[in-house]
Amino acid sequence: MSDDTLDRLLSTEPRRAEEQGEDEGRSRQLVGDVIVAVDIGGTKMAAGLMTMQGELLDRDQIPVDHRLSADGLFSSLNTLVNSQLVRARDHHHMRPVAIGVGCAGPMSRGAETVSPINIHSWREYPLRERLVAGTTLPVYADLDAKALALAEGWLGGAQGKESFLAMVVGTGVGGGIVLNGQLLDGAEGNAGHVGHIIVEPNGRRCGCGSKGCLEAEASGSAIEAITGRPPSEPTYEIMQRTGRLVGRAAASVCNLLDLDLVVVGGSVALGFGATFFNSAQETLDEHAKLSFSRGARITPVRLGDRGPLIGAGAVAVRGMHRARRAARSQQ
Ligand SMILES: [Zn+2]
Repeated sequence: MSDDTLDRLLSTEPRRAEEQGEDEGRSRQLVGDVIVAVDIGGTKMAAGLMTMQGELLDRDQIPVDHRLSADGLFSSLNTLVNSQLVRARDHHHMRPVAIGVGCAGPMSRGAETVSPINIHSWREYPLRERLVAGTTLPVYADLDAKALALAEGWLGGAQGKESFLAMVVGTGVGGGIVLNGQLLDGAEGNAGHVGHIIVEPNGRRCGCGSKGCLEAEASGSAIEAITGRPPSEPTYEIMQRTGRLVGRAAASVCNLLDLDLVVVGGSVALGFGATFFNSAQETLDEHAKLSFSRGARITPVRLGDRGPLIGAGAVAVRGMHRARRAARSQQ
């Protein structure tokens, strides 16, 4: 099992004696450590407090106001985050130790800069640096779909699985891949972009510049463009078609990476429910025919609306673990 395995990264180590001494005066009454988890999407920003065991103690959210400037938007996020920091100490008697962020992509590695497709005022916005300045805590950030993969592997529908694919089918389509106990990053941190697997060779033009990508055919925005109706008012045929296309992409990934589990979240997939999942499973069965991919399952995520924040928290725990390991190897 690798060092990045969730089990191991989530085993917390005792704080050094001098660190505890520093905090002694003001935090004698603090009973444990928490991560401030932050989830940033195109319509809302959420922040919450997560224990090192993955329990959410508190949460709050604000809508994304698209009229605000880049810094104006950050300021509203910073207020949200700082109110959770205050609640951690004053209300829950817990010590905030880090910020974990799941953010819509694309982003540069570690979210040094983020350019979420649905937040137009943030283009190469230095999110991580701003959050460090605003909170004085270490900040760890990753793509929201990768964060969700961490959460589902830790406490959700893929708990105990060494290898699986997690997908988000909502306004856009994202994904995160855990292989042999490790969340895949890729050269720039963008591994797992299942939304750009080709599912219709002569399909619709995608925002990425290609044609027939899953995102261009099965995302909430694509469904709205194709049907002229919001994805919250689907026809039976569109629910089935969306499931079929997601099943097609899932089969390619299962065949490619020797996987037998795909967990799917996101407003479109969960909103379409059993019709979507039955159709996705049927298509997966049709196309996952290799000895190792036959029988692969596609199931809904299990953490529901807690998933994104638990995922953001897990990003921080993973980051803290890596930082400790790097420090140790330099000694
Ligand atoms: Zn694309």
